[in-house]
This record gives sequence, C-alpha cells and structure tokens, in this order.
Amino acid sequence: MKSVINLITEQNLGKLLFDYPASKLTSLGIGGIVKYLYYPKDLDSLILVIKKLKNKNLKYFVIGNGTNLLFKDCTYEYLFIKLNYLSRMEKIEKNYFSAEAGAQGIKFSKFVIDNNSSGSEFMSIIPGTIGGLIYMNASSYHKSISDYLEKVEYLNEFGEVCVLENKNDFNYRKSFFTNTNLIITKGYFRFLDENPNSNKIVKEFRLKKQSTQPLEYKSAGSTFRNYDEIPAWKLIDKSGFRNFRIGNVCISKKHANFLINLSKASFNEANSLIEKVKNKVYEDSGYLLECELEIVEP
Ligand SMILES: Cc1cc2nc3c(=O)[nH]c(=O)nc-3n(C[C@H](O)[C@H](O)[C@H](O)COP(=O)(O)OP(=O)(O)OC[C@H]3O[C@@H](n4cnc5c(N)ncnc54)[C@H](O)[C@@H]3O)c2cc1C
Repeated sequence: MKSVINLITEQNLGKLLFDYPASKLTSLGIGGIVKYLYYPKDLDSLILVIKKLKNKNLKYFVIGNGTNLLFKDCTYEYLFIKLNYLSRMEKIEKNYFSAEAGAQGIKFSKFVIDNNSSGSEFMSIIPGTIGGLIYMNASSYHKSISDYLEKVEYLNEFGEVCVLENKNDFNYRKSFFTNTNLIITKGYFRFLDENPNSNKIVKEFRLKKQSTQPLEYKSAGSTFRNYDEIPAWKLIDKSGFRNFRIGNVCISKKHANFLINLSKASFNEANSLIEKVKNKVYEDSGYLLECELEIVEP
C-alpha cells in the first residue's frame, strides 16, 4: 500500500486520512478502523490510483454515505475510496440530467424538481449517494433508480472509463454493479415533465417515513430483503422480535425490519441479533431472510 500512498501524496491526487473510525463512515455507527481513507480530487486522480492498485494487486472499497453498511470491529488494511469531490449535478436538456457518483441523492432529487422536471421525488427520502443508489438500485414508494436511469459511466478494475447503457441487470435492490469491483462515476437520468405537486409529494413521503421508521436512531435502513409476497418486517414481527434487544442493538419498536444502534454497539451484538432473527423466522415460517445491509469484510 506504501506505493499507492506515495503516489497520492507526491502527485497531490486528493485527500488521505489514516486510521479513521469506520463507525463515523456509516449511519449505523458500528465498526473498527479504516487504515486508509482516500478522497480523489477528480476523476483523473482516481484513474491513476485504480491503475496503481491493479498493478500492485491491491484491494479497495468504494464507500458512499455508508447507509447500507455494517463494519466489523477490526482494522481494515485496504484502501477505502470516498467520492465526495465528484459530486457535480447538471441539467443537460429538458428532463435529462446527470449526477456524479458522490452527489447526494436527496440534493439531486431537489435539483431535478427545482429545474422543472419530476419523477425524482422518491429519491428525496433515501440517504445515499448517487453511486450507492445506482449500485443498490434503491427504491421507495414503487419507484426505483432504474426507472429513470439512462446510462452509467464507470471505471473497470483496470481504471478504464466504460459506459453502461442497458438496464437488464437491474432488479429489486440489485444492479449490474452488485458484487463487482466496478466504480460508478456518473449517472444520466431521464425524468418526467414538471409536476406542480412535486414538493407536496416530497413532503408527504417525508412525513410518511417519519411516522413509520425510527429515523431518530442510528440504523442502516431495512436490515433484510423483502419477499415478493410478504415484507420482511411482517415475518420478524410474527416471530416476536419487535423491540427485542441484545446488548446495545435492538429491533425497532416502530419498524420491525430496522436494526438500531442504541449506543456504541459492537459488530458482534449486531451480527448475533441478525442471526437470531434469521434462525427464528426460518423456524417459524420457512422463509430464509437475506440481509439487505452489507457486511464489509476485512
Ligand atoms: C434511514 C434510512 C432509510 C433508508 N431508506 C431506504 C429506502 O427507502 N430505499 C432504499 O432503497 N434504501 C434505503 N436505505 C438504504 C440506503 O440508503 C441505500 O441502500 C443507498 O442506496 C446506499 O447508498 P450509500 O451511498 O449510503 O452507499 P453505501 O452504503 O456507502 O454502499 C452501499 C454499496 O454501494 C457500493 N457503492 C457506493 N458507491 C459506489 C460507487 N460510486 N461505485 C461502486 N459502488 C459503490 C458500496 O461499495 C457498497 O457495496 C435507507 C437507509 C437508511 C439509513
């Protein structure tokens, strides 16, 4: 990793932080230490670093807002990349927009509405970055990213710029990018004509979310994926886990698919609760719950 660190510092390719607490990189607030945290100053810098990492056969992980992640309580020795400086949003033509991967989904939703288009309202309540939203094909209230996404620019593991124009691989919380090393750098979206009610819709979505989700606590949103025929919260509720606590983690009283960090929770507490819920729900209903939140491996 020394050669990568030298490249970044000597060529001034962005900001580097050392020994950063993973708990501060995620909305759940759990985890050990990230040894190297890199903020590329621009796309060209990122390309140089990815080429070097490939050349040295070194691992990396791109992190957005960390709103779907659970870290272990250990030290992560590889490079974490955060795209905060790649966050430009642009209106290209009527209803056609682009956003770099580090842009906030909530800000982009507003940008689209303020620039006389509609359809982005569903993004106003998802706390991820554009990169994270595309990776997860995030959705809310029956709309998903892939409904409006037209193309994606990304880097492959050799640091080459590529373009994806086909959305065949986008499904419920799954995209072409899931479980790959590809780095999303920019999304292009075609939205709908202006809707005078857009801001009202955003307000309604926010109120609905506040009344149904424990937004006052640290969480990673939904813990488990829903089945087509039954939402995960119903299965968890039926197995009696609402408000069930292990140490400093708890299944929310307000929403049974939300695992919340009450204060300084550990990975082991969170993982024990996840496993307990999975086992009991399977025993009671025959449904094997699959995690929606992602455990970051060291
Ligand atoms: C309170 C709360 C409410 C939520 N509500 C919703 C909801 O309504 N709908 C919904 O779908 N989700 C919801 N989520 C979950 C989460 O916000 C989404 O999954 C979001 O898409 C994650 O984006 P992120 O930037 O935080 O990604 P992260 O959590 O940082 O990362 C998630 C994955 O994306 C990858 N990734 C991130 N950026 C890039 C990139 N540029 N290139 C390649 N890979 C990348 C990461 O490597 C990781 O594998 C909620 C979460 C919280 C905490």
